Amino acid sequence: MTKPVIVAIDDEAEFIDMLQNYFLPRGYDISVAIRGAKGIETIKEKKPDVVLMDLKMPGIDGDEVLKLLKSMQPSPKVIFVTAYDDGGKTRARLLQMGAYAYFDKPIASLKVLEETINEASKR
Ligand SMILES: [Mg+2]
Repeated sequence: MTKPVIVAIDDEAEFIDMLQNYFLPRGYDISVAIRGAKGIETIKEKKPDVVLMDLKMPGIDGDEVLKLLKSMQPSPKVIFVTAYDDGGKTRARLLQMGAYAYFDKPIASLKVLEETINEASKR
């Protein structure tokens, strides 16, 4: 079975490193970007199944990237991983906008994230 193609966009280099350290040895095709604009370029190039995305980033933030991806064909599934917390309001809004899932940072289990990625890529 082919593993999902992933693009991760997050301005936190340590988090990006952690994702690569987890997913690369497990055979996933994961590309990373630390800015929204670069992330969009990478998405156009890689045509990923799943995008892992931070919310708060300098420049184009996760919210804007999601809007843009929703108008793309095919549209990758977007999984937010963010420390942003406003009591669930933003989570509800992003899911309403079509985000596939929303995880709080620090991420409790990369295994659960992996399972969610695999599930998302099958839809
Ligand atoms: Mg951030």
